[in-house]
Amino acid sequence: MKKLLIQRAMTGEGRFVRQTGFPRFGHVVLSVEPSSSGGLSFQWEVSPAQIPEMFRDAVCRGVSRMFEPGAKFAQYEPDGILIRVVGGSSHDTDSNEGSFEIAAMEAFVMALAPPPDEAAGLPGSSRGCPKCGGDANVVSKMLMLGKQSPREERAGARRPDQLASDECLPEALLAAPLQQFIQGCYCTRCGVGFVPDNLVKPAVVEEARKRAARRAERL
Ligand SMILES: [Zn+2]
Repeated sequence: MKKLLIQRAMTGEGRFVRQTGFPRFGHVVLSVEPSSSGGLSFQWEVSPAQIPEMFRDAVCRGVSRMFEPGAKFAQYEPDGILIRVVGGSSHDTDSNEGSFEIAAMEAFVMALAPPPDEAAGLPGSSRGCPKCGGDANVVSKMLMLGKQSPREERAGARRPDQLASDECLPEALLAAPLQQFIQGCYCTRCGVGFVPDNLVKPAVVEEARKRAARRAERL
């Protein structure tokens, strides 16, 4: 097994926001630093107002899980890595352990591999926010996808906004166990996460356009 050594301190930020269905929120900033104590260690440096103590285990678990079989760093053994939890925020009702676990995973991945400014680094990416239309406040963000696309749209039933992983281009998805995540976009002004069209299968984009046109006709 290869050893994962850190040469210098690197910072990563993870934010898990879901607004459809059951709203969820978790936000973590990690500083990943070299340490002489071996293995993987954690230092909790946030106030309860930022992240309540009850989510401490979830944050640590999120990072540790990245080294488990099938995970992104499964080939590696952490060798002297200190994780300082230096920032973040929580929401009174929407925050839960799962949200912080995912936010911590994202923060760790981002610290080690800062994302290219363009979403997923794929050319032709449209980064316009679906709500305000602008791209001034759009940042890269890991988004959670649905497990599977709905089989059919029942008459009158509103299709969930959330895209499913089988509707996105396979190369845009992250490796297991993060296959239900995509490096999409987030408008900090509107609080809206979205997946740019160039990461979605063309037939799905076409279908969404038709749905939007039908909606516009009805109005
Ligand atoms: Zn916006």
